[in-house]
Amino acid sequence: TVTVVGSINLDRTIRVQKMPRAGETIHTKELFTAHGGKGANQAVAAQRLGAQTNFIGAVGDDAAGQDILAQLKKEGLQTKGIQVLPQVATGQAYVVVDDAGENQIMIHGGANQEFTPEQVRSQAQLIADSDFVIAQFESPLECTQAAFELAHEHGAVTILNPAPAQADLSPKLLELTDLIIPNETEAQILTGVAVVDQESAEQAAQKLQAKGIEQVIITLGSRGAFWSASGQASQLIPAYRVEAVDTTAAGDTFIGALASFLDPQLTKMVAAIKFGNQASALTVQRPGAQSSIPYRTELEKK
Ligand code: ADP
Repeated sequence: TVTVVGSINLDRTIRVQKMPRAGETIHTKELFTAHGGKGANQAVAAQRLGAQTNFIGAVGDDAAGQDILAQLKKEGLQTKGIQVLPQVATGQAYVVVDDAGENQIMIHGGANQEFTPEQVRSQAQLIADSDFVIAQFESPLECTQAAFELAHEHGAVTILNPAPAQADLSPKLLELTDLIIPNETEAQILTGVAVVDQESAEQAAQKLQAKGIEQVIITLGSRGAFWSASGQASQLIPAYRVEAVDTTAAGDTFIGALASFLDPQLTKMVAAIKFGNQASALTVQRPGAQSSIPYRTELEKK
């Protein structure tokens, strides 16, 4: 069982030919909405790829929140840890993509910012029943810390995806994190090492380990994922060679897939990373966020 403590967003994407300049008004080419949020994406990935998955987080008392809750239930997730907060909007991400493929994203945290460590503690049973507890940086730090504390009380492994990027990890969070999974940018912002290849990934991983985190996986986009753990030889596990059309949710798929495959003793780490690479290789071949995350049956066919 996997528990994700994290964010739920309604993503509103508009396509434009060219980004507007300050003060300019332009017409959009296309508008679409989708379900996203790093927490929700990772939870959907873990559930679709084979783990019973619990979610702890919050939505607002609005149509978007109702919609998303219903969808997560339909996926089979345990949603009783999701609070519906009155007088607050469900988290929303406003994404603008231009013809050159560049994007700009603005996030209204809404309910994601309003849920509390008390709410997390009220769901202690979900965490006690879990093998893995996953969190990101789209929720209040105190909520993540409360969840990781409970995880350690009950013997669950904690996984931190330090996204969106942040330069500092609190000493308490460092102490509570068993496995950290940054991408290249996040690893660079955390360590100051520009991660561009295997060698620099190794340097960044060593810095994170020196801070006290035992297990480090740095995802390297089309290169794959670099794994380093104390007392073991580090290695690069290469990505699958595919034609990427939209890499949204690649990292989220990787993390959910990894957690759904891994054993709590972490003896199957290399196989779990391969599974993560395989799942996210499917995600990058499809447009969209949650809609592009594959099901386990799609991987078994390969
Ligand atoms: P994020 O989406 O968080 O930026 P990455 O870009 O590092 O994360 O991607 C996460 C994982 O997705 C990679 O480790 C890899 O397995 C897979 N992936 C990403 N981009 C590609 C690609 N172009 N081709 C194949 N696999 C990819």
